[in-house]
Amino acid sequence: MTWEPVIGLEIHVQLKTRTKMFCRCAAGFGAGENTQTCPVCLGFPGALPVANRTAVEWTIRLGLALGCEIAERAVFSRKNYFYPDLPKGYQISQYDLPSCTNGQMILPTSEGDRVIGIVRAHLEEDAAKTVHVGGRTGRIGGADYSLVDYNRGGTPLVEIVTAPDVRSAEEAKRFLQLLRQTIVELGISDAEMEKGTLRVDANVSVRPEGSDELRTRTELKNMNSFTFVARGIEAEAERQVAVWESGDEVRQETYDFDAATGTLTPRRAKEEADDYRYFPEPDLVPVEPPAELVERLRTELPELPAARIRRIEGELDLERATVLVTGGLDALWEQTVALGADRVAAANVIANNVVGAGVEPGAVPPRELARLVEAREQLPRAAFDEAIAKLGAPGFSADPYLAQEAVSDTDELEPIVARILEANPGHVEAYRGGKEGLLGFFVGQVMKETQGKANARVVSDLVRAKLSA
Ligand SMILES: [Zn+2]
Repeated sequence: MTWEPVIGLEIHVQLKTRTKMFCRCAAGFGAGENTQTCPVCLGFPGALPVANRTAVEWTIRLGLALGCEIAERAVFSRKNYFYPDLPKGYQISQYDLPSCTNGQMILPTSEGDRVIGIVRAHLEEDAAKTVHVGGRTGRIGGADYSLVDYNRGGTPLVEIVTAPDVRSAEEAKRFLQLLRQTIVELGISDAEMEKGTLRVDANVSVRPEGSDELRTRTELKNMNSFTFVARGIEAEAERQVAVWESGDEVRQETYDFDAATGTLTPRRAKEEADDYRYFPEPDLVPVEPPAELVERLRTELPELPAARIRRIEGELDLERATVLVTGGLDALWEQTVALGADRVAAANVIANNVVGAGVEPGAVPPRELARLVEAREQLPRAAFDEAIAKLGAPGFSADPYLAQEAVSDTDELEPIVARILEANPGHVEAYRGGKEGLLGFFVGQVMKETQGKANARVVSDLVRAKLSA
């Protein structure tokens, strides 16, 4: 039997508002522990919350970008539970009346558009940060003691919940990359997983392919990159298939994915939402955004990444268009192409060389980049690489690099090529046996030998000619 994964994602996004969700404390990292606190976010009795207007507007902006319906009346509720990082004993969140519902995100794929449903996006406050000291894993098990930093407590968070529409680990990764870029471009969050400003949980189940049943799902937590999310989902789907095939049943559990070992560790039995005893927060008025505000935010939306991928795909191809757009590189690419650079060459240089050199795309002068892209085959490789690495420097000019010329003289290059082939008989044999990918190895060796001054295309032609002789 063939099995199919059924995946839903829950994404928490920390908004980069200047102040916290319900008080005037500064939000953000870097300050000394427990310096950004006040009676409201420390949960002192009698302290009253006031909702952050910017956070409300940004949540609506995100909801509109995700094609959601924006509630005319959203309500904050208390989600009751006890934990040291939650001094009030409850988290203020939106429960049965969230700000955004019933949206979708289009994921362009080679088999057409995939539509991933967005069940809801709601606004809430973050918990404080607990640091477990001692122990090997940084988790509570095995720690000597724990400390709490309340600076993060009360920071605005948006939780986005997708429908179980994602069908593979790879699709989950692509969806998350596109969603992340959309969030970054809306200007509402840095959305960096390493910093915890974007967090992803995955709900995973499997079912026989072609069926539409929904079997018991498990929840995966603690995955701190998109690649780990994909690997965690893959490992969990495999585990569940083995459980069903052995005649056993999958139990509803929460797992931590350990990326270092690729293993899944069960956490605790999943609580039901009812355990939280939600009730409307009596200290806050409902969120009732005026229709004009919602319309203004709608008209202010920029052209979104999914639409740009589809537009650019026509001029390039889906894979390159996706890499450029989700990397925030397509604006630079468009400017460079408009100045005459070859489309594909410009895309490759930007996505590989510019990104590889760690150059900030926004700092690159498109005209100088276009000149380098056009001249790249005539330039010594070393000069080209150096020019790319310095592209972001203020006042950069390609002139001194363009003045250098690669060695294209075959009389000069032939003996070097011959020497490299002679020194690597095993690789030569493998190449002749069909491993044509080794061409790059030989060219690389020649480039090394010439300190990057050889013309790569001439070398490549020479190597190919000699090997097929
Ligand atoms: Zn505060």
